Parts: sequence; structure tokens; C-alpha cells
Amino acid sequence: MSRIPVYEPYLGGNVSAYVNECLTTGWISSRGAFISRFENAFAEFVGASQATSVANGTVALHLALDALGIGAGDEVIVPSFTYIASVNTILQTGATPIYVDSLEETLQVDPRAIRNAITPRTRAVMAVHLYGHPCDMDAISTLCRDNGLLLVEDCAEGFGTRWKGRHVGTFGDVATFSFFGNKTITTGEGGMVLARSADVMDKCRRLKSQGVSPTREYWHDILAYNYRMTNIQAAIGLAQIEMAEEIIKRKQQIATIYRTELSPLPLRTHDPVGDVDHSHWMCSIVVDRLEDRDRLRAHLADDEIETRPFFPLASQMPHCHSDQAFPIGDSVSKRGINLPSYPGLTEGQLDRICSSITRYFEGRQR
Ligand SMILES: *Cc1c(COP(=O)(O)O)cnc(C)c1O
Repeated sequence: MSRIPVYEPYLGGNVSAYVNECLTTGWISSRGAFISRFENAFAEFVGASQATSVANGTVALHLALDALGIGAGDEVIVPSFTYIASVNTILQTGATPIYVDSLEETLQVDPRAIRNAITPRTRAVMAVHLYGHPCDMDAISTLCRDNGLLLVEDCAEGFGTRWKGRHVGTFGDVATFSFFGNKTITTGEGGMVLARSADVMDKCRRLKSQGVSPTREYWHDILAYNYRMTNIQAAIGLAQIEMAEEIIKRKQQIATIYRTELSPLPLRTHDPVGDVDHSHWMCSIVVDRLEDRDRLRAHLADDEIETRPFFPLASQMPHCHSDQAFPIGDSVSKRGINLPSYPGLTEGQLDRICSSITRYFEGRQR
């Protein structure tokens, strides 16, 4: 019986051909034709006017926050239930993360909690589209507009995710994506930044490349970074974009199989709520009883099925700790499991996973 991993990249299509083209032409660093081809194809896919590629999804966030001028003295509202990069990049700018709770059903940030967290120092809200479900972009966009706040979208887990037909990342002042090996489309490591205004976009392009002057060689007049993506990464990315619809469709089919097969059990699947396209970056379950989470994971591990626990709350990490309680985020975070979610999963493997989960709950009743 072969082990089923929680994720595996989908590397068919033109991936090898495009990477080989980089090798044979020698364009292996951060210049080359694939960079703009990938950026343009990505922008078109999500419905943005421009996009700029970067080395990974974490520096994408840092670049986007920096380009907006967020820094010391500013507060940025962020869900405590998120991946740590959302919070670390806020801290890296010198700003203060203000944690808020999430919603039980969608797992996304609670707009009412955002409203209650606004102070005179609030500069921005970071909406994180967690595990492929969108946040409530009507409520969050309205809140930001009415209170003069910047909106940052962390779409690392939201490629293929839409709110009322509109792709996530097109609501915010800035938005970022990740192409890590387990993300819905991958470039190995990689990321993308979108910005609503042309000025912020220009700032991102400049900041990601040492702040070099567009008119004077080796002249640098702002503190900047090397956050560039390579042509090899972009070559993989372009091939991935070509397969994106297929990848997303298969992930949605997998989520439907889990939903159907697991519905009689004392758990819930992470289903789409409202007029949304859930891309199911990770197909997740939340067990009813806290004590089942780790036992079920151990049972699945015995059956050679790899899973992941939900992210622990960022507010509980030592370097960015807060004593405030986030009861809903805390509860779902301790009851959640990401199941194998990659597009290459076979019907046979899905059957094995669902049977193993069913057997766990049958055994528990005896
Ligand atoms: C993956 C991820 C990131 C960071 O992306 P990397 O490419 O791994 O640096 C940021 N935010 C969220 C929510 C993520 O899932």
C-alpha cells in the first residue's frame, strides 16, 4: 500500500519543455521572456490589469505592505487564524498586527470583529482567503472604504477563488499570491503582487529590484530589496497557468467526493458558503469533538495517509503573542484537518481515504 501525501505538485503540460528552453537559451536568472509572459497570463487569469512576480509569497506580502507605506505606528487588522507569514510581514514593516477572530463555517475573518478592532491608528485590513474559500469581500470592502483603510488581500491560498464571480486579489489596494510547491499552482518557490494603482505597482517593481533608478545606471535612492523571481520559476508558472482550469476543476471534484462520502460522520467538510467559487486549496474537515482530531490523524497515518492539522493561532506564537482570546478561531484550529488535496489523487486513493476515516468513527462507537 503506497503512502498518500497531503500534497503533490501537478507538473505535466509544458513544464519540462519551458524549463528546458531556459536551460538551452541560458536565461536562468531573473531576466528572460518567461517573466513577462507569466505575469501577463497571471493578470489575465485573475482579471487584473498588471501583476509583478516575486521570489515567494512571503516577500510578496512584505513588498506589498512596504509599497503602501505601512510601517511603525500603524495597526494592521489580521485574523489570528492564518499562516504565520501574514503576521510576520506586518511585523517586518514595523507595524503592529491587531488580531481578530474568524467565522466558524467559512473559516474566514469575521467582518464584525474587524469593525470592532478599528482604532485611530488602523491603517489597513489584511484579508486572508484561507484554504481556498473567499472572505466576505462585500462587508470587508465596505468597511475599508467607510473608514478610509487600505485593503490588503493575502491570496496565497486563493488562486482560483472567486467572490460573486470576481477573482480574489482584485478587491484590495494590493494583493499577493504564493506559488510554493503545495499551492494550487506552483513555481517551486514564487509569488505575485497585484496593485490597484499604477503608482503602487511601479513602487513594487522598483522595490523588488534594489530600487534602481529607471534613468541612471547603478543609482539607488530608496531602501529596497532583491525579491525577484527567476525565468525558470516563471517558465514553470506559465505552464501551470495553462493547466490552471484543469487543476482547479479536479480539486473541486475531489472536494465534492469528500463532502458526499463523509457527510454521515460527526464532522463537517469546508463547503462553499454563498455565491462563491471555492478553489479548495486544501480539502479540510472540522471534527465535532476536539479529542477526535489527533486520534483520527494518527489512525490515518497508520493507514499511510498523510494529513495536516489546521494552523495554530498566530496570537499563540511566542514572538507575536497576544493574551486576547479568539474562541472561534481557537476551536476550529484545534479541530481541523487538511486531507490529501492534490489534483493527481485517483478515485482509488480517495476511496481509501474516505474508508479509513469512516472506519475510525465506526471503531470509536464500539
Ligand atoms: C503559503 C502562504 C504564504 C506564504 O507564501 P510562501 O510562498 O510560502 O512564502 C502566505 N500566506 C498564506 C496564507 C499562505 O498560505
